Amino acid sequence: MSNHQPYSFFQSVERSFDKAASFTKWEKGLLEQIKACNSIYSMRFPVKMDDGRIEVIEAYRVQHSQHKSPCKGGIRFSDEVNQDEVMALASLMTYKCAIVNVPFGGGKGGIKINPKKYSVYELEKITRRYTSELVKKNFIGPGIDVPAPDYGTGEREMSWIVDTYASLKPGEIDAAGCVTGKPVTQGGVRGRKEATGLGVFYGIREVCNMQDVMEKLGLSTGVVGKTVIVQGLGNVGYHTAKFFRENGSKVIAIAEYEGAIYNANGLNEEEVFQHRKATGSILNFPGATNIAKSGDALEMECDILIPAALENVINGENAPRVKAKIIGEAANGPLTPEADEVFAKKGILVVPDMYLNAGGVTVSYFEWLKNLSHVRYGRMEKRFTENLNTKILTQLEELTGKTVSTAERNIILHGPEEVDLVHSGLEESMIAATREIMAIWKENPAIPDMRTAAYVCAINKVGTSYTELGIFP
Ligand code: NAD
Repeated sequence: MSNHQPYSFFQSVERSFDKAASFTKWEKGLLEQIKACNSIYSMRFPVKMDDGRIEVIEAYRVQHSQHKSPCKGGIRFSDEVNQDEVMALASLMTYKCAIVNVPFGGGKGGIKINPKKYSVYELEKITRRYTSELVKKNFIGPGIDVPAPDYGTGEREMSWIVDTYASLKPGEIDAAGCVTGKPVTQGGVRGRKEATGLGVFYGIREVCNMQDVMEKLGLSTGVVGKTVIVQGLGNVGYHTAKFFRENGSKVIAIAEYEGAIYNANGLNEEEVFQHRKATGSILNFPGATNIAKSGDALEMECDILIPAALENVINGENAPRVKAKIIGEAANGPLTPEADEVFAKKGILVVPDMYLNAGGVTVSYFEWLKNLSHVRYGRMEKRFTENLNTKILTQLEELTGKTVSTAERNIILHGPEEVDLVHSGLEESMIAATREIMAIWKENPAIPDMRTAAYVCAINKVGTSYTELGIFP
């Protein structure tokens, strides 16, 4: 617990849960069970470092809920890792998965190390030992608990994990499904990299397509022509900006930690990215105005503000100056509870992180399905669809005596590749989740904000699942 916060991270998740639970019909005991972290594995293990020293590594894996199996959630490598944080993040995973209808319980893992301070060989040893500890205690497996990348980990670590798991479980046909976020060559899925940003776009687009919601905000329906400001040009911010721009919105400002840039006619994220790569700064981008104080970009006039960098960037201090009509929480926890209160009063719509940035876990679910089915998406139907479409189009052209353009022909004939199906599955998941949350909010206008409505949505689904499972006597 930090000195400034009256509650630990896990306690603050519990508080949000309790606030939402008061809008549900579930009995107290069941709510207590939904909230509780079911299994907590706190471990210490020795690793011999390159210089011969033995270091005791502190690590965790928490399975918050097994109302659905397996559990799912990333593994974080950070100095800040502690049990409370891992518990909080595991709980959030349960609710996030429930909202986007990913049939997993929540989990999370963490190793208390700063990965920058270790050699690649040391990191490999730590990751492999951690995995074998998980195997020993039955805390990992395609039907038990499936980790993924988080802060400080990526494809490389996931490859080490799957390799360790497979070698300890010889003959396990579904071993590749023990972890997601793997490289495509190791059973990963195409479309994972852009998944979170694309999910953010699909979620906000669905909100913008709701006429009544837009009318209340004084905005027109749809994303075309909407002005967008993005904070953070990392993986999530870059892709969010890209999909907004490609779909007719104008990204008028982009903020990075060294400053922000503004252009009323819109910015191209790829050009900005290349400029930053070449010059080391986002500033002085041709045609754009510099904003020296990066945080000022959050307070500019726009329709949609996307914080996609860090937590707590909008708080009680700057929230009253924010002029956006919609705030899409692409990052985890970019708004403090004080900011939430300010926006609820001002009638600014906050689209909450818990579901808006669920694109990554949704596509992880698709990766896991691919691993269990042992076949690449699209392999079975691509040719069939293309042949059928060719026949249909040829018939239509013969019957009408007209021909379509080559560009149109290519679109019509195209059979789905893996990435097309992954994007389509993500689009469906985000649209469905947005509609479910909004329907709950509409049904109960006493619910103060979309965040609480999202929690209610999650609690109802987990509650239903427990009830239908029956509680073991
Ligand atoms: P990233 O490291 O790729 O990008 C973060 C970017 O923010 C960097 O470019 C960094 O320079 C910039 N930044 C840092 N401090 C800043 C500041 N003060 N002002 C403006 N910009 C600043 O990380 P990411 O993967 O894009 O994740 C961003 C957020 O989204 C995090 O909160 C993360 O937890 C959340 N998230 C990510 C994923 C995912 O799939 N990557 C999924 C869910 C949630």
